[in-house]
Amino acid sequence: MSLWEDKVRRVVPYTPGEQPADTGIIKLNTNENPYPPAPGVLAARDAMDVERLRLYPDPAAGELVKALAGRYDVAPEQVFVGVGSDDVLSVAFLTFFNSDRPVIFPDITYSFYPVWANVYRIPYKMAPLDADFRIRPEDYYEENGGVIFPNPNAPTSCYEPLDVVEDILQHNPDVIVIVDEAYIDFGGTSALKLLERYENLLVVQTFSKSRSMAGLRIGYAIGAPKLIKAMNDGKYSLNSDTMNMPSQLMGVCAVRDEAYFKQCVNRIIATRERTKAQLLALGFVFPEPMANFIFARHPRFQGRELFEALRAAHIYVRHFDQPRIGDYLRITIGTDEQMDVLMDFLKNYINSH
Ligand code: PMP
Repeated sequence: MSLWEDKVRRVVPYTPGEQPADTGIIKLNTNENPYPPAPGVLAARDAMDVERLRLYPDPAAGELVKALAGRYDVAPEQVFVGVGSDDVLSVAFLTFFNSDRPVIFPDITYSFYPVWANVYRIPYKMAPLDADFRIRPEDYYEENGGVIFPNPNAPTSCYEPLDVVEDILQHNPDVIVIVDEAYIDFGGTSALKLLERYENLLVVQTFSKSRSMAGLRIGYAIGAPKLIKAMNDGKYSLNSDTMNMPSQLMGVCAVRDEAYFKQCVNRIIATRERTKAQLLALGFVFPEPMANFIFARHPRFQGRELFEALRAAHIYVRHFDQPRIGDYLRITIGTDEQMDVLMDFLKNYINSH
């Protein structure tokens, strides 16, 4: 082995869901939105002056920050934007989790958290969800170096009411508490309401799910100006021009089209409720879904078996080979037509095995 190999930083990377090149499949594996982005986004693309691409983009993404500040009724100094919420969360880990004490997050949660903790050498501790996959707030009372959890959680789709979020905030006045709200638009109330009272709260959201723009990579954090300033300092120390010009332009148009956003979200919620009833009728069990996916298991079948049978039928869902959740499938809500194909397959499979 060469000597330099000893000095290479080795990390266990995050494994994203599969993005198969085959467009003939039904893709319910990465919690994308089945509907196109807002019409204004397409118009912005058509109107884009390609000649301007020779220039660097605005490093502060000022127009997008302003549009988001207007939409959420906060000051522009309270908004940080990044290349997907993964980028925002990565900058937040780097900026806020600098203690010798462990950062706490749930044992069943977004699997990128331990990856960032490892890459930035942040100690962490995983608090076990209860038997119903719910957060136990007491687990977050001990001294720690910071707290992060998604609400609704992934991959469980469980939502914790704001009094649980507030209880965790009340017990953690000396560290930053990050609420990852990638799925909040599909149910529940955002912790943004609590910002006025907790200046150590950071709320992170994304355009990838409810705004149908996973491919453009836009995420944002909202918090006290001090937190946002610290994150921007962190970002400008890594790579200042992260968000490209087309994303900034199209992002602004997406934020402006509130009617389309609501319509899309409501369609997905309606399909989720319909799918819930159909899954229950087939004997599936699942925690109450509050995101754009359902986390379900069937008492008669192993998770891997159903996952593989579905995949062979060109229906892609997500399966995690992990303790406690190996028998579950995480099924993204697609269109009604896509869910009909899924349900037909499951009905036939279950009745013939
Ligand atoms: N947080 C959670 C809980 C997620 O499930 C995801 C999606 N993989 C993200 C953050 C990141 O999404 P994006 O980078 O597309 O905004």
